[in-house]
Amino acid sequence: MKTSIFDLFKIGIGPSSSHTVGPMRAALRFAEELRERGILSNVARAQADLYGSLALTGIGHGTDRAVLLGLSGETPERVDPSRVDQMVRHIREDKVLSLCGRQTVSFEFDRDLLFHYDQVLPGHPNGMRFSAFDAQGKPLAGDVYYSIGGGFIVKEGESAPEKVASLPVPHPFSNGAELLQQAGAKRLPVWKLIFENEAALRPAAEVRERIFQIWSVMDACIERGLHTEGILPGGLKVRRRAPRLLAKIQAERGSDPLRAMDWVNVFAMAVNEENAAGGRVVTAPTNGAAGLIPAVGRYYRQFSPEASDEGLLQYLLTAGAIGILYKENASISGAEVGCQGEVGVACSMAAAGLAGALGASNEAIEHAAEIGMEHHLGMTCDPIGGLVQIPCIERNAIGAVKAINACRMAMQESGEHKVSLDQVIRTMYQTGLDMQSRYKETALAGLAVNVKDC
Ligand code: SF4
Repeated sequence: MKTSIFDLFKIGIGPSSSHTVGPMRAALRFAEELRERGILSNVARAQADLYGSLALTGIGHGTDRAVLLGLSGETPERVDPSRVDQMVRHIREDKVLSLCGRQTVSFEFDRDLLFHYDQVLPGHPNGMRFSAFDAQGKPLAGDVYYSIGGGFIVKEGESAPEKVASLPVPHPFSNGAELLQQAGAKRLPVWKLIFENEAALRPAAEVRERIFQIWSVMDACIERGLHTEGILPGGLKVRRRAPRLLAKIQAERGSDPLRAMDWVNVFAMAVNEENAAGGRVVTAPTNGAAGLIPAVGRYYRQFSPEASDEGLLQYLLTAGAIGILYKENASISGAEVGCQGEVGVACSMAAAGLAGALGASNEAIEHAAEIGMEHHLGMTCDPIGGLVQIPCIERNAIGAVKAINACRMAMQESGEHKVSLDQVIRTMYQTGLDMQSRYKETALAGLAVNVKDC
């Protein structure tokens, strides 16, 4: 096991983990390394070059802003979303940037923020290069980074996270079969196994505290989304729907047996509308798919008679275990494997997590995760206008409902099933690699080209 659940659940800002959070972290790291190398004070100009998917859908995903914020020393966790517009406007108007928050350097948008639409760097579709120059224009530093999905970054020349050494945990596993085998041999539910692994990396009390902090950010995001009206940024003129849907659901009387589904839809849409607006969200496991796991968590809290804080803990730990399997054996990057790697993975995680919270057997948890992905196989990434709005917002709602259904189906079965979770993860990855690249977060195919007038 090489991934912690806290690598998957990261507090950040919208709209995209691979196009906003990852580039911000990469730009920040470049700036911090200039400082660590003692050359920050010599820098007079900085430059950012964006390639592949980051260039093609970068504006819609806020990559341009993310890079500026990262170079300025901001982090996705701490940056105040309400100040971002103002900070970017100052850089654009003043043509200077405070590199790493310390060194004022020249930065002109047309000259220093370059989109290479027809070039892809060799390591990943989401490539970027940062450069620093002295007052005479001499290059001082230049590094290439890749944003490999879910906010993870890799610097050129370094090993990708999945290739680094395993974490020193008591219950290591590298695939679903090993996870089940470890848990069975030690008579542990999946959530407890993951908890003990995380508690080997940091104090157990901190593990609990961080999980509840993640939930509180998710829950706050739902609440903000439910009560914020307006038009989403980016030019598509998409109106936020969550507040109107909430009012409608609350006004309805009678005993509609599918009322819970309406709630799940509105919870997911609330989060994804916040994400699309650049608000504070938890990457779970990506920003485009950020609404699904909170929506199913709120469904658990609101509609499960046995719901408790402990159950919520079990929900997120179990979901995290399944996310680790996808991260380490496939991909959670829409630019690499399409939306099956984002909404599909989130659905699989939520289905398993809900089963874990409801006390299902480990076999049923594995089955729920498998069903959650099986019916997302082949799903492309084709956001209209390169914005994480259409189809992303509704897709999270549909995925959340699907996760609950997958959990229920798995819990009604005996645990035996033909397709294993490992087989479906492998299938998802191979399908994603075979998918034409224009269907992978480029806005060059699918809905993105067939719906032009919205
Ligand atoms: S279509 Fe899916 S993968 Fe693509 S940006 Fe939207 S949520 Fe992410």
